[in-house]
Amino acid sequence: MSKRITVAIDGPAGAGKSTIARRIAHKLGYLYIDTGAMYRAIALWALRASVGLSDMHRLEQLANEAIIEFVPGTNAVLLNGEDVSEAIRAPEVSNAASEVSLVPAVRRALVRKQRELGEQASVVMEGRDIGSVVFPDATIKIFLDAHPEARVERRAAESSLPPDVVAQQIGERDNRDRARAESPLVQAPDAIYFDTTGLSIDEVEAGLLKIIRDRTSNGKERTH
Ligand code: C5P
Repeated sequence: MSKRITVAIDGPAGAGKSTIARRIAHKLGYLYIDTGAMYRAIALWALRASVGLSDMHRLEQLANEAIIEFVPGTNAVLLNGEDVSEAIRAPEVSNAASEVSLVPAVRRALVRKQRELGEQASVVMEGRDIGSVVFPDATIKIFLDAHPEARVERRAAESSLPPDVVAQQIGERDNRDRARAESPLVQAPDAIYFDTTGLSIDEVEAGLLKIIRDRTSNGKERTH
């Protein structure tokens, strides 16, 4: 009997998580879940509704009420039925998402949704706390990292902002993610550390697929 497989990919911004998690999910036929997009969706809603980023009560309400969907086979993210895939990538939303993610009640609401999504099928789920908090029993945990300069370079290539501004923003988000009291970004003790510095996307994909297949008999089912 085939068993549901959960691949947890955590790591800092710019390590290559989204690109690689999406490709791996596609290759293995698993559902891809970008948990950062969920924090971004709440941040977008808060900005649009002029909810202060320190208004924990209202942020908790938004997180509980939000209907966030990932459209299978596409990169689309829906917030309450609206396609917000582009809107959530705006730089002000990145910063707001990092602040919104500090609120424990927001995290609780989104972790609950993430577990529901992950319990439906085999998934590749990426974020900051997947292996440590959301799915501590994940089949495979990977901590994807890269040197800070490589991470800035990658994010700058995707952004219209100058590299020094991107570097500053990534630095601030990293510090908040690592220093926060609730579910900080940490490598789970049983996660495999994978450094993507200097590797092409194809090389990272091949490396991770090998790790996954070694542990799951070809990514399809677990034999023990
Ligand atoms: O991964 P991405 O950069 O899209 O995430 C946006 C923000 O959401 C991050 O800066 C981080 O603060 C937060 N986040 C989080 N926990 C996750 C995923 C993202 O706190 N599992």
